[in-house]
Amino acid sequence: MRFWMLPAILLLTVLGATMSLMAFDAPERVGVSADVKKSPPKNRAIDPLRPWQHADGRIEHRRRFFDSWDEWRIAQGPDFDHRCGTPSPPPGSPDGVAGFAGSDCDLQQTVPSDDYDPSNGDLVIPVVVHVMQNDEGTLGWIDRATIEQQIKILNDDFSGVGVSSADDTPGAGVRFALAGVDPDGGSTIGITWSQNSTWFNDQGAYWESLAWDPTRYLNIYTNAAGGNFGYVNALPAAGLAGEIEDRVVVSWRTFGEGGDYGSPQDLGRILTHEVGHYLGLFHTFQDGCDGESCSSSGDRICDTPSQASPNFECSSADTCGTVDAVENFMNYSWQVCMREFTPDQIRRMRCTIQTYRPDLAMWAEQCAYTCECDLNRDGRVNGSDLGLMLGKMGPVEGELVVCGDFNFDGVIDGNDFGRILISWGDCIPGPCDDIDTCDDGDDCTVDYCAAGECVSLDIPFCGICGTSEAGSCYESNGSPGCSEMDCCEAVCAFDPYCCQITWDASCKNKALSGNFPECDG
Ligand SMILES: [Zn+2]
Repeated sequence: MRFWMLPAILLLTVLGATMSLMAFDAPERVGVSADVKKSPPKNRAIDPLRPWQHADGRIEHRRRFFDSWDEWRIAQGPDFDHRCGTPSPPPGSPDGVAGFAGSDCDLQQTVPSDDYDPSNGDLVIPVVVHVMQNDEGTLGWIDRATIEQQIKILNDDFSGVGVSSADDTPGAGVRFALAGVDPDGGSTIGITWSQNSTWFNDQGAYWESLAWDPTRYLNIYTNAAGGNFGYVNALPAAGLAGEIEDRVVVSWRTFGEGGDYGSPQDLGRILTHEVGHYLGLFHTFQDGCDGESCSSSGDRICDTPSQASPNFECSSADTCGTVDAVENFMNYSWQVCMREFTPDQIRRMRCTIQTYRPDLAMWAEQCAYTCECDLNRDGRVNGSDLGLMLGKMGPVEGELVVCGDFNFDGVIDGNDFGRILISWGDCIPGPCDDIDTCDDGDDCTVDYCAAGECVSLDIPFCGICGTSEAGSCYESNGSPGCSEMDCCEAVCAFDPYCCQITWDASCKNKALSGNFPECDG
């Protein structure tokens, strides 16, 4: 190629890239009549049993109005769980996929054989993110930079280098990339945006209009998620993998770092958790304490401790007599404390890809996934990377996705060239890169940075439970809290009076009741 051609190609590619950025079609309206402006909003919900958020922010549900999602959630009762809406198959559910019952990762068991070890190679999964806003465009907006940042967080967590990961956190050898080629073979940025209040409220079969072939793409949708933080419509072994409704849904308020919901759900890890379900993982607290075999009871994973109920903060409890996996992505802990999938969880996910999602992932060279066009891994996309790519122009030999074929279409050409230009400059900077520490020196807070801001979370009952000055848990001790940490936290989670005011006879009786296994004195 003559050098004078370069500016012309640059111009054409930039034009092409800009066009593809703008080329998303106006979505079909589902369930919204043409006279929508005349109709009172309350008549628009398809399913009155599910919450509907109006343009003014109010939530309508079962003919009641709530000013905020928090208010709505509280009204659902103390046992209401809005974190994850993924349905759990009941114990003993048959595998829903004909021919795969008895697989190494069906609904009944996990056989973590070496076939599923990350050392067998990297897998790359093409992703499309469908952003759904309400008709007015007042709710649900997520920009491209936030989406790219979220995919980076997903990759960091799956590779074991997330914000709170330790050096020895295992990597899954699975990475995710916004699709570079759409189902029709066209160039794309892997994102669609639409405005539709029905879809925004997680109603109407939006996937029938929006989904990209679910056998080949991970379809992620953002909307109000029915009041949940996120969900997957079914575990893959339950039989819907690759069907048109196969999807991951994440609330737009908890998508990406520093979302509208705020702490402690502000580190983009709802998506990590839901993709765990999408790849076949149960909650760590599925089915409570393990039965006879850890591989076929509980969460069907042997290297996660048994757990009877979710953890909601960072403190470790022992709901089954061993320390709970508070740091596991498949728990409900504060996101800042989550840091790992275990080796057997990783093998179960890779088994799920190979068994239930065989056309989804591609084998790939190890690339600098955090910044996909940084071919020499120096933290910037610049002329050196362009030179490396130009040297590889042409068809790719073999099936392996090679670094440089950024859109995985089997050829390194102008489309990949276009992606280098879009990524030109420093790799996606972390919004907290410039902040050294957020530690405020208070032992009773957990401090971290999200979206460039320091966040400080109060550790519940800190300094009240488990201190030597606190009295016995099995007496009316005349002061807030008691000396056994686990017992005190469990009782106070149920009855905050015991930690806020005083550990009275009622608290003592709870500790002695046998209803709190943490209280074994
Ligand atoms: Zn979940």
